Amino acid sequence: MTEVSVNGVCKSYGKTKALDNIGFETEKGEIFGIIGPDGAGKTTLFRIMTTLILADSGSVAVAGYDVVKDFSEIRKIIGYMPGRFSLYKDLSVEENLSFFASVFGTTIQENYHLVEDIYRQLEPFRKRRADALSGGMKQKLALCCAMIHKPRVLFLDEPTTGVDPVSRKEFWNMLARLKSQGVTIIVSTPYMDEASLCDRIALVMNGRFLKIETPENMLRQYDKTLFSVRSANNASLLRQLRKMPEIKSCYPFGETLHAVAGKGFDIASLPARLVSDGEIRIDRINPTIEDCFMELNEK
Ligand code: ADP
Repeated sequence: MTEVSVNGVCKSYGKTKALDNIGFETEKGEIFGIIGPDGAGKTTLFRIMTTLILADSGSVAVAGYDVVKDFSEIRKIIGYMPGRFSLYKDLSVEENLSFFASVFGTTIQENYHLVEDIYRQLEPFRKRRADALSGGMKQKLALCCAMIHKPRVLFLDEPTTGVDPVSRKEFWNMLARLKSQGVTIIVSTPYMDEASLCDRIALVMNGRFLKIETPENMLRQYDKTLFSVRSANNASLLRQLRKMPEIKSCYPFGETLHAVAGKGFDIASLPARLVSDGEIRIDRINPTIEDCFMELNEK
């Protein structure tokens, strides 16, 4: 069953095309990831889907309701966690949650079972002011506040940005539990490693979806020869590799370089063609989602 349907959505700010013909559909109980760098258009899309701003053209329906005509219905059945801190800093953990519950005409007690797993971790700090919580704890509280009225669809805009790796992992475990209860989740992230935790992902760049696929298919469909190259002087290697006609692209990737060649490229020939003072390490590697992103972006 289609839960969220986005068709031909465009939105510009002056000359900036924040969204350029975006379209996709999500199924009930799906975790749909929107993955892309800063400025790609993620927040603009979330604001349109959550009825906070209007698109210039195109349409969006959530649970069959139209974002323009039926905005008040949609607001009752969705949870939204905006990218920036959305809590009341001066209120305690408990007061924040009770406030969000009361806005939707419910109470913490009534829907406690929905947030129990997460809120149990926050309970020792329930009298603490929200702005005195750690980054991970703030995000967990924000998720509780977005959940307390039992939404059908959850919109989470970069919920793990700036959160430590352990809390990030815990956060994604929570999303998996919500999914198992039938909640549909649309979540954005700049972290490519979080892509594999989604059922399907959309890679977004400059207001356009480059591709929508399951993470597994995204990796399977990568059809280039990819290898990592590393030496004491990666900058020099990068320059040399970029000059080679058979190397389609080469980019820094953590401590190494990733170089892309056409299928069948013989990497055994490479060491002799590269100049370096020290040892050069070359390995054939499998792509990550980030490599798929680079590849699609090149196209
Ligand atoms: P992301 O969430 O992926 O970082 P945004 O949706 O925030 O991307 O931004 C997409 C583009 O639209 C950026 O170029 C941004 O500068 C521009 N933009 C977003 N909101 C506004 C606004 N209110 N006024 C002007 N430009 C905006």
